[in-house]
Formats: sequence, C-alpha cells, structure tokens
Amino acid sequence: MLDLESLLEGKREEMIRDLRELVKIESVKDAACPGAPFGPGVREALDLVLQKGQAMGFAARNVDGYAGHLEFGVGEELIGVLAHVDVVPAGSGWTHPPFGGEVSDGRLYGRGSSDDKGPVIACLHALATLKEAGFAPRRRLRLILGCDEESGWECVDRYFAAEERPAYGFSPDAEFPLIIAEKGQLGLEMSRCWGGVEAPEAAVRVVALHGGTRPNIVPDTCRARLRVQATVLPEVLDILRQSAMPLETTEREDGLELAATGMAAHASLPQKGVNSIGRLLLGLAGLMPYLPGEQAEVVRFLAEGIGLDYDGSGLGLACQDASGALTLNLGTLSWDEKGVTVKVDIRYPVTVGRQAIFGPMRDKAELSGLRTAVYNELPPLQVPDDHPLAVKLLQVYNERVGGQAAPLAIGGRTYACAIGTGVAFGPVFPGRPEVAHQRDEYIDLDEFMLMAKIYAAAMAALTAE
Ligand SMILES: [Zn+2]
Repeated sequence: MLDLESLLEGKREEMIRDLRELVKIESVKDAACPGAPFGPGVREALDLVLQKGQAMGFAARNVDGYAGHLEFGVGEELIGVLAHVDVVPAGSGWTHPPFGGEVSDGRLYGRGSSDDKGPVIACLHALATLKEAGFAPRRRLRLILGCDEESGWECVDRYFAAEERPAYGFSPDAEFPLIIAEKGQLGLEMSRCWGGVEAPEAAVRVVALHGGTRPNIVPDTCRARLRVQATVLPEVLDILRQSAMPLETTEREDGLELAATGMAAHASLPQKGVNSIGRLLLGLAGLMPYLPGEQAEVVRFLAEGIGLDYDGSGLGLACQDASGALTLNLGTLSWDEKGVTVKVDIRYPVTVGRQAIFGPMRDKAELSGLRTAVYNELPPLQVPDDHPLAVKLLQVYNERVGGQAAPLAIGGRTYACAIGTGVAFGPVFPGRPEVAHQRDEYIDLDEFMLMAKIYAAAMAALTAE
C-alpha cells in the first residue's frame, strides 16, 4: 500500500496554512451579487479552494457560484465527496477572533474550522496526496464544494441540476464512525382562524399565546394572556393551582398572564428537553369548559394529542425500527385575536411511509378545525449496511482507529442525503465535543491530520477496484 500517511504528515504545515487562509474568509451568506448567489464571501471561499485544487492539477468546475468541484482520475463511475465552504455567522462571546484562524494549544480556532472548512482542506490534501503517490483510481473522484449548506441547500439543487450525480459518496460534515440512516423529516404547519366574537361572551378567552422560536428546537419558554370574567376568576385560579403543570400565574387588570418554562433541545432529540408549549397547554386544558368552543377544540387537540409527548403516542403515531423511534416536536405556537398557527417537526423511521404519518395527522387536526400544510420535508435516507460504500468506509475507519465501531442511524439530517446514495463520514470523532455553530469553534490539529489520513484511505478504498 502507498505510504499516504507519511506523505500527508509532510504536508502538515502547508495544510494548516491553507486552512487558516480559508477560515479567514468570512463566508457567511449575504445578499446575492453577480456570480455570487450567496454573497461575495462565500464566492471567495469557493474560488480559493478551486484555485488551490487547480494548482494541484485537478480539473475544476464552478457552477455559477452555487457550488463547484475538483475532479481526479478517469473511469465510467463517479464517486462524490460532498463538503461545504459556507459558514454560520460568528455570533458573540468569542475569546479568539472568529475569522482569524489563530493557532493555540494544538487547535486552530475560527468559525468553520470544524464545520466544514477543516474537512474541506483535509479532503483536498487527501486527494492531492493520492495523485502525488501515483495512485491510479479506477473510478473518477470528485470533491464537491457546496456554498449554501447552512441555509437552504439551494447550492446542491442547482449543482445536481447541471452536473452528474455520483453513483455514491460520502459527506465529511457530521461524525465518525459512519451514519448510514437518517430518519425522514416532515415539518407540518397547522392553523385555524377564529370565527369571530361569540355570543354570549365566554367566561375565559385566550387572547394571546406564544412559544418557541424555531420548529426544530424544543421550546423553552411559552407565555399566554387570558381575559377572565371577574365572577369566575377565583375558580380559574384554583384550577390552575391544582394543575400538575408548573405555571407562573400573574393577575392583570382584565385577566391573567401565564408563563411556562421548559428546556431547549434539538428537535431530533426531544427527549433531552422539556416542551414549554406542552406544559402551558396542559395547564390550560383544565380551563376548557370556560373557553369559547373553537378555542377549546384547539387546546384539546394540542394538549391531549401532543402535550408533553415527543413520540406521537397521543396521536396514535408512535412507531420505530432499527433507525429509532418516531419523534415529534411541538416547536412553535403563535396565537392571537385572529387565529392560531403551530409548527410541528416530525422525524419518522426509515421504513415507515411518509403518508402513514401525514394522513392521520391531517385528519385528526381537521377534527379540531385545524388545516395542515407541509412547510418542510426530506425523505429518509438509508444505505444498506452491506453496501460497498458502508462496508469500505467502516473498514477504513476501524482499521485506522482500532476497534469494531458499528454504523449509526440518527434523527438529524446531514449533507449526505444531497448525494443520493450517500453516507456521513466524520469529521467529529466519537466522544469529542461538538463545536460546530458555537463560539470559539476550533479543530484539533492532530485530529485534522488524522481525518485527512482517513479520508485519503477512504478515497483510495472507494476507487481502487
Ligand atoms: Zn456543516
């Protein structure tokens, strides 16, 4: 076998220089300008990597600033490696300059150092090393560089509309050892407009109710304002006090203000959080006899159907397979004098059909006067564990780090599903902290080198025969 590892080790300083140069480009999505659909910073980052690749002798292609690629080798079949050069905004609270590429204590700091510029540079030099070593791939290898992974994936839509789709490939944009299954994602928006003033006026009316900021996060705060007729106020307060839900209740001139606190978590791991909207709705459920009929219907559906559930059991949707159990997050709720809108983020197991989830959900919501629309969806991803892609990558990883790691199935979504037949492979090693999107994002330079070695071996394994 070629000595790829010592060749790569000899490039360590050059690789760190290249990564610093790329991290210094503030490739945050910005207003489009000619040739730069995601703003000038993202375009500059794409150009830099393509120029470096060209200088190494690879054929480069830029698809109108949406994405680009570097290609190595000849052959009928195409293998893809999909990474991205755009980054999320820096945010605040950094102790190192977010676009400085500062090296300290064996780490390189900066936004994108780990997500996903470190892997981009690791893969670029892995490719260059194969070429220098005289490796002759039997399939073509493409390092594809997306420019809009962090927002809408418009980059890959445009790229694959113009360019050949790889037979299969991997994305170095999640974690090791290997992710071969990702649950399907279904984002539903349910809404109802209030019919108008009721006669006689109800004893209690929910005037406003708001919780959550993004549907893919378990909401940690929720607040409501109720108009309460003075005659029923004592009994309403009694009911709220007896509720099992810890609500903060404040008396106002014409009624009450309620607040519920929960704990935030990613919607794909809702068991790690506590849903504040669910808490508030369950507290409100005790007041259903006092509410206008249309409001009581909506509270009943949301409190009894969902409440604090995150597995869909209250709606009869609970199911699971080898990829895990269905999860459901009541992510945002917006309720005012005109109507109510809720967004629910559902992740369903890979062997369950989307219609088996959507149909019952829509029908049950309709019984409470709620109309259901899809605001976002991604079908499940599953590569069989005996597919050569999965077998070879896992073998490369296990040989290099030593061990018998098994592939993973997750509820989150990764860039791998843009490839078609794709898996996520690194860059975060098991047990290591997740630093992506956080302040003081960094990449450990020894791990940076290790991932480059793994990626070089993986590229060789996928194209050797
Ligand atoms: Zn990423």
